[in-house]
Amino acid sequence: MGKIILTGDRPTGRLHIGHYVGSLRRRVELQNSGEFEKIFIMIADAQALTDNADNPEKVRQNILEVALDYLSAGLDPEKSNLFIQSQISELTELDFFYQNLVTVQRLQRNPTVKAEIQMRGFSDSNDGSDNKAGTPVGFFCYPISQAADITAFKATTVPVGEDQEPMIEQTREIVRKFNSTYGEVLVEPEIMLPDNAACLRLPGTDGKAKMSKSLGNCIYLSDSAEEVAAKVKGMYTDPLHLQVSDPGHVEGNTVFTYLDAFCKPEHFEKFRNAFIGKKVSFEFNSLDEVKDQYRAGGLGDMMIKNFLAAVLNDTLEPIRQRRQELEKNIPYVYEVLKKGTEAARAVASQTLADVKRAMKINYFDPGVLEELIKEQSDKYSK
Ligand code: ATP
Ligand code: MG
Repeated sequence: MGKIILTGDRPTGRLHIGHYVGSLRRRVELQNSGEFEKIFIMIADAQALTDNADNPEKVRQNILEVALDYLSAGLDPEKSNLFIQSQISELTELDFFYQNLVTVQRLQRNPTVKAEIQMRGFSDSNDGSDNKAGTPVGFFCYPISQAADITAFKATTVPVGEDQEPMIEQTREIVRKFNSTYGEVLVEPEIMLPDNAACLRLPGTDGKAKMSKSLGNCIYLSDSAEEVAAKVKGMYTDPLHLQVSDPGHVEGNTVFTYLDAFCKPEHFEKFRNAFIGKKVSFEFNSLDEVKDQYRAGGLGDMMIKNFLAAVLNDTLEPIRQRRQELEKNIPYVYEVLKKGTEAARAVASQTLADVKRAMKINYFDPGVLEELIKEQSDKYSK
């Protein structure tokens, strides 16, 4: 059997450059590699509702935003199947059966669930009696729902950022448990992380550990060139690098992390001498040379920020242009989602049928009812 991809994003906002380097850029490469039999890209609106139950309108609006970002970034509906999670009720059924294969204690140990509960301020100590704070049960259980999404499409490969590692491990455990209990039906997926360490978990513009829609520290794929430049200008660099002549630190310096994630050799050709600082013009041939000069002192923060803004805008400009075109053709975008969802549903429905057959809860399938009647009648006629 060929290799199959399943991955996706929560429609809680427009997509940002963390999504791009963590997963989206890779998906487009994989899509165009021709190595995959099928590629499913899911807009996880049902998962987004697990921590946005009081704001379905936000989720509804962002479905289109994420779809526009996908198509602008180069996902091609002829090659990748884009779909909306909530419209495939088979996923909820799978989730329901998988819930019996996971313990509360196992979910409580999941480091991503723990970190995200903390990040969202769902207090553990809250007893939930005011029904406002506390962790929504659906949110707590979302690793199980993710297992349903991945296995429904018999995905072999899940290209995601590092924060998703515990989720894929949870899926693999569910697959093993299911297959050993009911028979070999489900496929154990492999995680595919970005090769570049800077892309595993891109930090926010505020220097926080992860760029995240929920933290408001993002550069969006659809930001204008001016917005990108302004956000880069406001970024933290090295607090010890006060004068241009001071030696600077590259490690832990978010501007350099972004350069590691986005800078390509051709950018040095393109931007040579584009930025003239007080003491040096920008005449570097590689990122290593820039880093060496920064470490030695004599390279100002404004200069590297200007370079970073130019590199980011160079990457984002074609995406922005495609988005402007697509924004003029909204019916096309919804048509892509509708068709993709119908095709995805047919696949999920087949897997659900396989699962129910393995669990022997397919009582009314052709031939099964007759057997069941015979079995039970025999029992009672003894
Ligand atoms: P939310 O705050 O609503 O959870 P998010 O910004 O974390 O949103 P998700 O939709 O949860 O985004 O993540 C979608 C995909 O993007 C996942 O594969 C995730 O690993 C990847 N991703 C998200 N943020 C980053 C990041 N900062 N660096 C690398 N990959 C990321
Ligand atoms: Mg997230």
